[in-house]
Amino acid sequence: MNAPENQQPLQRAPLMALSEALSDLLSRVEPLGSTDDIPTFEADGRVLAEALTSALSVPALDNSSMDGYALRCSDVSEVSAVLPISQRIPAGHEAQPLEPGTCARIFTGAPLPEGADAVVMQEETREVSGDMHAVHIDILPKPGQWVRRAGEDVTRGTVVLPKGQVLSPAEIGLAASIGMARLQVVGRPRVALFSTGDELVMPGDVAPQDMKPGAIYNSNRFFLRAMLERLGCEVSDLGIVPDSRDKTLAALKSAADHHDLILTSGGVSVGEEDHIKPAVQALGSLDLWKIAMKPGKPFAYGTVRRDAGAGAEQASPCHFIGLPGNPVSSFVTFMLLVRPFLLKLQGAATSAYKPAFRPVMLPAHFTVTKAEKRREFLRVRRNANGGLDLFPNQSSGVLTSAVWGDGMVDNPAGATIAHGDLVPYIPFADLLG
Ligand code: AMP
Ligand code: MG
Repeated sequence: MNAPENQQPLQRAPLMALSEALSDLLSRVEPLGSTDDIPTFEADGRVLAEALTSALSVPALDNSSMDGYALRCSDVSEVSAVLPISQRIPAGHEAQPLEPGTCARIFTGAPLPEGADAVVMQEETREVSGDMHAVHIDILPKPGQWVRRAGEDVTRGTVVLPKGQVLSPAEIGLAASIGMARLQVVGRPRVALFSTGDELVMPGDVAPQDMKPGAIYNSNRFFLRAMLERLGCEVSDLGIVPDSRDKTLAALKSAADHHDLILTSGGVSVGEEDHIKPAVQALGSLDLWKIAMKPGKPFAYGTVRRDAGAGAEQASPCHFIGLPGNPVSSFVTFMLLVRPFLLKLQGAATSAYKPAFRPVMLPAHFTVTKAEKRREFLRVRRNANGGLDLFPNQSSGVLTSAVWGDGMVDNPAGATIAHGDLVPYIPFADLLG
């Protein structure tokens, strides 16, 4: 039966594609303006606020990559030629110009003496019997062999790390190699974290045998805090906020002034025990999204006004993100949505979060026979045969799937998977820092 045009039958709002949700979320965030000047030692996980240009070449001088003898190739006309040893150059010591017709005892990292054009490794030399001051060269060396050229790693004057670079151990090492003891990094996002739910109990507060029926331990708080810290955030953990409108309002109000983001888990559905929506709306604005993904359908983005008169930084409202309560949904939406958001907030280069992940194709050593309506992120792990195994229970409440698994398969809506199909695999390790 056709309904008249102005009396459409009630329809469910269409689900939002994950890619659309991510673009929308990213469009609402601008990088923080603040910077910190910090010791390079403490820069792991931070984002460079300015490009690093090298004031020197690395290595600064041509040097040896082997323990052996530095020489001029033209002085070795035949295998097992004998060359007198005219100097000894340990790493960190200066070299004298190489006397013609001689070689220099040299060690890894030591500067090549002027005039030398190659190094012969000590395994390809022999002592001259009865003469400590000469050596047999048992090969015909080629110019350049076992020589590290000045500037082959870094050329003086070049940008070694761009503004917006997310720093990890390798980048910190490279910064140190050009002499940087301190770095200018973008300020840490200040994040207020709270969990909602009357059923939640903190581990340590109640022993397992004393848990009331219906009570559960607050697990989200632990992994969310760890994930935030790995992303360089300064976390204020506000603990558990009960399912009450007043308590939720109070928590939001007190958090908004001094934070860049309020992150919550739970309470973003539309049951009458879900108080996040009305509370955030009373203090700012909130959009509840139903994202076409599994796990992780309910997700909320909003803003919370800051206290007027609390200073210039209060001009813009505090961001609000509400994650679903189910642990795996919370875990997955954090990785796929909150992580890119925080990277942009910290001024990371766009390539760090767009796309949010770069899957590799690996063969499925499992089957999915029932097609899902939503794009699904299946918890899997690599096996010893180069394929992926599937965790048998994909429920959004089963956190074991994220522990057993080492990543996810991004399975499009409506797709089944046959054994051996190449499927897009995203390692968790790519999404947790
Ligand atoms: P909600 O989104 O509040 O309806 O919660 C959905 C499910 O997630 C419920 O089974 C909750 O008990 C559970 N849940 C919510 N918050 C947490 C949490 N912090 N830790 C563990 N489970 C949670
Ligand atoms: Mg709840």
